Amino acid sequence: MNKPESNLPQFLEDKKRLMDGEEFPFTCHPDVPCFNECCSDVNIVLTPLDILQLARGAEMTTRDFLETHTMNPITKDLQLPIVMLKMKDEEKRECPFLGDAGCSVYETRPWACRMYPIGLAIPPARAGESPDPFYFVFEDDHCEGRHQPDARKFTSESWLRDQKINERDEVEKGFRELVSHPWFIGGDRQLDPKRLEMFYMACYDLDTFRSFVFDSTFLDRFDLEPELINELENNDEALLRFAFRWLRLALFAEPTIKARDENAAQSE
Ligand code: SF4
Ligand code: SF4
Repeated sequence: MNKPESNLPQFLEDKKRLMDGEEFPFTCHPDVPCFNECCSDVNIVLTPLDILQLARGAEMTTRDFLETHTMNPITKDLQLPIVMLKMKDEEKRECPFLGDAGCSVYETRPWACRMYPIGLAIPPARAGESPDPFYFVFEDDHCEGRHQPDARKFTSESWLRDQKINERDEVEKGFRELVSHPWFIGGDRQLDPKRLEMFYMACYDLDTFRSFVFDSTFLDRFDLEPELINELENNDEALLRFAFRWLRLALFAEPTIKARDENAAQSE
């Protein structure tokens, strides 16, 4: 029988998939021989919630955090801007948050750092099919965590609980739905520069998005419930979820927010 055609990139084809309930061994603590080695010269893609939490933890605005600690690699294959943590500018290229005792931002560490040693693969959307995400295990040679005598057994589900990833998932899921939106099916559709800027601002620079909502004509143009406005003023995560909702309107013309004048939505 022929293997079904796959639309996964090659690096994901080679990864070991974790089936539901399947266990993997792992531990990580200061006594593992490789302690802290994975926090240098590494590519960490930041999610909008990562940036928000790291900025708040450092008492910085999202704009200052982005300018100080991130970079935006540009490649011709990218349909959307991505934000990566900028490593220190020295030979080892250590993470700026790595201290002698380990991660100095442990409580607000990024999604990718919480997830390791597992990853989440989201196959590119295809017409008529919802993407079928799956978890896989990294089996990097440098990581000794799976070979330690005190390694515990985890399933993908228990790992997400252990690392408090599931607590953040309502917000993370909103972002995943945006970047894997059916609008991109086929891979050759491209947002124009103005919409790419909107995406970057609303997803990653939440303090600027807050000004866009509260210091512009936004609230005159869109019909929001007073309770929602109050929540957006006082709750960063609610504002971020609302940013994703607004982007679905602004980028893909989904009627996610009611305009007072329908023409206002069209002009976004
Ligand atoms: S944020 Fe923390 S866990 Fe992640 S690479 Fe930096 S030091 Fe390591
Ligand atoms: S390489 Fe693996 S075991 Fe070693 S510190 Fe990093 S995550 Fe922990």
